Amino acid sequence: MIRRLIGSDRRLLTRQFSHLGVYYKSVKLSNFVTNANLANQLNIRYNSLSKVLKNLGFEDNQLASDYILDNETAGLVAQEFGYSVISSENENDLKHDIQAAEVTTDSKKLKPRPPIVTIMGHVDHGKTTILDYLRKSSITKSEFGGITQHIGAFSVKTPITNKVITFLDTPGHAAFLKMRERGANVTDIVILVVAADDSVKPQTIEAIKHCQKHGVDVIVAINKCDKPNGEPKKVLNDLSAHGIFTEEFGGDIQVVRVSGLTGMNMDKLEEEVVALSEILDLKAEEKNVLVEGHVIESQVKKGVGAAATVLVTRGTLKNGCVIVAGKTWAKVKALKNEHNEVVKAVKPGNPIEVYGWKDLPEAGDLVLEVKKEAKAKSVVAYRIEKHKNNKQKEELDDMNRSRQEQRKQLEKNEKLKELFKYGLSKEDLKARELELEETPEAEKAKVIPFIVKADVSGSNEAILGSITSIGNEEVMPLVIYSEVGPPNETDLDRAETAGATIICFNVAVPKEVASSAEKKGVKILNFTVIYHLVEEVTLILSSYLKPLVETKITGGVEIKEVFTITNPKTKSKFKIAGCKVQSGEVERNCKVMVKRKDLIVFKGLLEGIKQGKEDVQSARKGTECGINFKDWEEFQPGDFLEVYEEKEIERYL
Ligand code: GDP
Repeated sequence: MIRRLIGSDRRLLTRQFSHLGVYYKSVKLSNFVTNANLANQLNIRYNSLSKVLKNLGFEDNQLASDYILDNETAGLVAQEFGYSVISSENENDLKHDIQAAEVTTDSKKLKPRPPIVTIMGHVDHGKTTILDYLRKSSITKSEFGGITQHIGAFSVKTPITNKVITFLDTPGHAAFLKMRERGANVTDIVILVVAADDSVKPQTIEAIKHCQKHGVDVIVAINKCDKPNGEPKKVLNDLSAHGIFTEEFGGDIQVVRVSGLTGMNMDKLEEEVVALSEILDLKAEEKNVLVEGHVIESQVKKGVGAAATVLVTRGTLKNGCVIVAGKTWAKVKALKNEHNEVVKAVKPGNPIEVYGWKDLPEAGDLVLEVKKEAKAKSVVAYRIEKHKNNKQKEELDDMNRSRQEQRKQLEKNEKLKELFKYGLSKEDLKARELELEETPEAEKAKVIPFIVKADVSGSNEAILGSITSIGNEEVMPLVIYSEVGPPNETDLDRAETAGATIICFNVAVPKEVASSAEKKGVKILNFTVIYHLVEEVTLILSSYLKPLVETKITGGVEIKEVFTITNPKTKSKFKIAGCKVQSGEVERNCKVMVKRKDLIVFKGLLEGIKQGKEDVQSARKGTECGINFKDWEEFQPGDFLEVYEEKEIERYL
């Protein structure tokens, strides 16, 4: 008792300390921990933990002892108990990952760089037409006139000042949207295209908001000025209503009236970009610094493999540089510009297609140079591991949710069982109906988990696409994890925890993994043809479909009288229904439903049949007999029994 008091006082003390940011003890937490284990590790009783969780806003289902917390949440709870948590994710990032370098303040190191421009605006206002015009003019001016490849960005030399502008060639393009989503903002200047004959529209407003949010400078291009019905003045007026103040409205935003179709004033537009970029004084370090950039887009190209367009933002990218982007890296094998021209070195502000990637990086990934291949490998390994952990956290949420649903379902089933046990009076019947109405959970689709391991990321995606398209509102597949490469022990652990089937495609299953899977009861399926894979997954899912139940009435019996009989041995009393078989036949243990004025008052098993004092197996049409039911005695004279058989018919997706 005394010990306990001391314990609780100490806890009180440490909790008070923790609120002052003073921690009494430190604790190292694994990635996932159940409530029960956390209580153990924090040296507190489970009840105390439960109370604190409740105060912290955890819901009832999250208080269960087997509820699993992720590292971050467990860390917060531990802090509530005065613990400091060792090894946070950030510390690990600093130790094992790489970050962009600080921006230099030494102006001597900075050299001017081309502006990076994106064209934005409402659909059909002429963004593509303007970009096409610019691209064409860049091709005719290049030494390699005519030969061009799409790499997601291109550079243009301006006609009068002969300066370079880099255009991102992706307005409304998925890659560009992805970059924006991931917060990668590489744009210095936005050319806001507004059609003279259509003025400001929803996507124009969206583009304005984007620029305002990210502090990007804007030049307005009023397009389609070749059209007679254009109203450039109205455009300016409308723009001012959204905070875009051009010179005519007392602001400093430049406006150029252009036509992407005829090329009218396009040179002026380019010169405006140059003028603005000079004001912005865009500079970057070119030498003695590790390269930085952003992936604009990436694709697997025939014959050369993974290729990614990188917009260099710092340093000089050369052949042989080792660069990391997202969860992959490259030792640069070759650099090619949009004219398909091999380039030896690329300075900041320029886009370039980079070859030599181990795997495809994603649009928006930050590109960072490292000095050694070993560093690139270790950083990528760390990021992959971190990604897996994050995925596991998501899986965990799913698992917690499904456990919660299972618990709810069990409770409801228990309630229903109770109701059946006591027969069904009118009130019970109503209650049962209500209960059934309240069980939409049971109608929710059953989710069948899979793990996919394929030879290359291309097949992985194809398989994911095919698998997720199978299923219906009753049963659906969920790929909880997918990766390139053969299955390993971690996959088995994952599959075991989630009850998932592992699907392999064109990968060999290592012998030790196969035997370990057998021990763990994890099913591994191996395919070399997607069609077979889809067939098998369809079969697996179909096996979870509730079978069709066909009911066939095999007999009809009328209850004429109700007798109460005393068991001669136990002296207990029970009721018997005196019946006449009207049609077919009744058998012991057959299924029956009892109807009273068209209402089903009982559905269950017929327990026994008596003819005279004899217990008999069955009674045929025209005979009289005494019948009793399993766990039900509420029958009345006039009730009608229907004897039925149920046949289950398998269903397929
Ligand atoms: P986006 O959706 O903003 O990329 O718009 P598009 O570049 O696809 O242009 C939409 C339509 O407007 C196309 O039919 C173009 O030919 C037309 N268009 C684009 N620019 C001009 C222009 O300056 N003048 C005229 N008359 N039509 C244009």
